[in-house]
Amino acid sequence: IRAMSTVIPKVQYGFKLDNKLKKLVLHEDLPVPTPGPTDVLVKLTHVSLCHSDLHVLYDNLEIGDDFVMGHEISGEVAAIGDKVTHLDVGQKVVASGPDGCGSCAHCRTGADNDCIDSLVHGWFGLGKDGGYQQYLLVNRPQNLIKVPEGVPMEVASPITDAVLTPYHALKALNLNPASNILFVGCGGLGSSGLQIAKAFGATVTVVEKKDKARELAKALGADFVYETLPELIPVQSFDHCVDFVSVQKTFDICQKYVRSKGTVVPVGLGAAELKFNLSDLALREVRILGTFWGTSQDLVECLELVRKGLVKPQIYTIQPLKKLPEFVEKLRNNEYEGRAVFTP
Ligand code: NAD
Ligand code: ZN
Ligand code: ZN
Repeated sequence: IRAMSTVIPKVQYGFKLDNKLKKLVLHEDLPVPTPGPTDVLVKLTHVSLCHSDLHVLYDNLEIGDDFVMGHEISGEVAAIGDKVTHLDVGQKVVASGPDGCGSCAHCRTGADNDCIDSLVHGWFGLGKDGGYQQYLLVNRPQNLIKVPEGVPMEVASPITDAVLTPYHALKALNLNPASNILFVGCGGLGSSGLQIAKAFGATVTVVEKKDKARELAKALGADFVYETLPELIPVQSFDHCVDFVSVQKTFDICQKYVRSKGTVVPVGLGAAELKFNLSDLALREVRILGTFWGTSQDLVECLELVRKGLVKPQIYTIQPLKKLPEFVEKLRNNEYEGRAVFTP
């Protein structure tokens, strides 16, 4: 094993999910694992809070219990097994959250975000240990992606989801400069999605209920920004409607305003079930597209988009990780825009 010259501690702190208490519980005595020959130990530098964490904590998005949460992870290689050859000590990396196994039917096609093994054993910070701690043991080192020069580590962490998820969703829509699309919600994901859609050349209309987030949408180049869609916009106006909230109310806006043969993409996880109007959607041949996170290759591409300056993840604040519970409350009260990033 190769390791950093600085001493790696034996114990660390971290926040574990407790389903009964419905909260993140701070543990001061979590073990720092020792990597085996094919493993990598990552010293985490940054981790960011995602709205999905709230769904896990409060909305019965069930993914088990007793694991360290946090799924937007960046850090540097602290110790590395001798069989791992594509990384070295000190290398700056992000974790591809779905942590694909590399050998199931989905991983073989490149869809490692839909890994069959991870569906059973969990994704980083969602069902198995993730980033709300100081060190993370990774036993599928192919899922550590090098961070290119020019991408700061605090920016790298939200790229792994707040940029990756909308990128994966929008890639599937084959946007072009003639595309006219609707976004609902301009938070962590929506604000990156907007910049990605503009990079593809699309015309973007944003519907957002919060004043400050509407200001952000305008500043990031949205073509039209509304609190609610005005009457003068005809129904069936948009090629695609991307819902970064996905409660019935927002999904209904998307169903109504998508054009014939267009696509509704419920990226948000705001409701466990949504009703669609079958007769309407069938007659107009509308597609509803499920989308989950992004592939490890998408993540490489997202790092490149940010390096080139085409997308700037919106970072609201950078705080010590122990302040996480405070920001969970702030996010729950919709008190800030973009991502809160933490240093473990
Ligand atoms: P966020 O809290 O940062 O942003 C949500 C935004 O939506 C806020 O600006 C809020 O004001 C706005 N909003 C809420 N209700 C609204 C309404 N009724 N009308 C208009 N605007 C409204 O959240 P985020 O971290 O960007 O995540 C967005 C959603 O995406 C969450 O549901 C999250 O769980 C989900 N998500 C899904 C995936 C996936 O793979 N499908 C991955 C990551 C996150
Ligand atoms: Zn997330
Ligand atoms: Zn797999």
